[in-house]
Amino acid sequence: GAPTAGFVNASDTDPSLEANRTWGRKILRRSATSELGIETIDEAWVDDPGRLEEVVAGVAAAGVAWGREDGATRAELLDLVGQGLAAHRAELIEVMASETGKTIAEGDPEVSEAIDFAFYYAEQARALDRVEGAVAVPPRLTVVAPPWNFPVSIPVGGVLAALAVGSGVILKPAPQAHRSAAVIAEILWKSGVPKSLLALVDLDEGSLGRDLIAHPAVDRVILTGSYDTAALFRSWRPDLPLHAETSGKNAIVVTPSADLDLAVADIVQSAFGHAGQKCSAASLVILVGSVAESARFRRQLVDAVSSLRVGYPDVPTTRMGPLIDPPTGKLERGLRTLADGESWLLKPAALDDTDVLWSPGIRDGVTPGSEFHLTEYFGPVLGIMHASSLSEAIEWQNAVDYGLTAGLHALDVDEIATWSDAVQAGNLYVNRTTTGAIVQRQPFGGWKRSTVGTGAKAGGPNQLVGLTTWRRNNHEP
Ligand code: GLU
Repeated sequence: GAPTAGFVNASDTDPSLEANRTWGRKILRRSATSELGIETIDEAWVDDPGRLEEVVAGVAAAGVAWGREDGATRAELLDLVGQGLAAHRAELIEVMASETGKTIAEGDPEVSEAIDFAFYYAEQARALDRVEGAVAVPPRLTVVAPPWNFPVSIPVGGVLAALAVGSGVILKPAPQAHRSAAVIAEILWKSGVPKSLLALVDLDEGSLGRDLIAHPAVDRVILTGSYDTAALFRSWRPDLPLHAETSGKNAIVVTPSADLDLAVADIVQSAFGHAGQKCSAASLVILVGSVAESARFRRQLVDAVSSLRVGYPDVPTTRMGPLIDPPTGKLERGLRTLADGESWLLKPAALDDTDVLWSPGIRDGVTPGSEFHLTEYFGPVLGIMHASSLSEAIEWQNAVDYGLTAGLHALDVDEIATWSDAVQAGNLYVNRTTTGAIVQRQPFGGWKRSTVGTGAKAGGPNQLVGLTTWRRNNHEP
């Protein structure tokens, strides 16, 4: 879409300035002791099943009143929230580091993204006002169910999109990211979001989650999580108006025309940023023709990946942080077990007895149709495939059920055109990383099993309209 008038992306903190590095070190030292510079809000949590009805009714009623306000009024509130988030950048980075092990290099741009959602959706709310009937029937009550891996930007984006279209919101954070959600809620309330309009609900146990999702007063659910979670929600309520960004299994193709030095740097960030715990992460590299034969490229990649310092985020030299939980199930297999024909170029290893600090791994010889080719792992392990041609590489890239991000490293314009036409993914990235989408510039969302619901992308021009005119897409569970 055309750029929104007046919107400018927030700047990340510049680490080349000594003052900013000192600021960052202080944040990280505090994160190790978890002393947040913000009040705790334990009393604000709703975790009592007996109160669910009351909370749902209260937020839905507040949503009805809010839905009668015009877009300009809603936009004013979002602008205040954007300022509030910007004023609390340090606390947000700190809580992410202490709770989810996110490094400052990953957390700082995440705060920028949250701020961007506020100002961008404010602009969009004003624009919707100008389209008559665009928000004919605003949702009264939206449940926002974010993941732990982007514990600030994803919940903030969902909550603000819902508020922007005139809905009340119940935020149900992932269990691993409770404190981040509490800090967000406190910032939003302090910025002027009425408590009646935004409730924080703790529902990780028992049937409470089901009772909420299946509640007939819930008009929308904005989920970021796995495809299986989306299917579970649907099984609880078949007509659920779901707006979900789900799993990914993403590959970067590298052809002989590529700038291989650039490719190495982008692969390292895409695969091992936040220890690979992103839906957008590159989990496969598909090398075409002579690149597959290049011992030099392989050595460069291994050298770059093995130079990543693994540790906790309070150590300033840490480049790759811990896993959120000890690996189990498919991730454990991905980190420990090779299939026939595969070999470790770099064998991942648990670095201490916590089992969350893992060194990064690279496996070579991943074959089409194998478990590694088709499975989302969500961890620091990258597989390499060897294709004889670009069309074979595209075929393998498209063979997965998901279609979230896809990367190409090639300087040949015909290759870029061929690939861009054929690849099936929501976000295509040429000669750059496949992670780190930026509000307005790269609206983020998937295709195939990477999206369930509207298919509208976060941080893009269709997100708010999508929430007000929900309909099923073709890839429903
Ligand atoms: N928007 C994030 C990115 O572009 C990914 C979000 C996710 O992992 O869910 O890297």
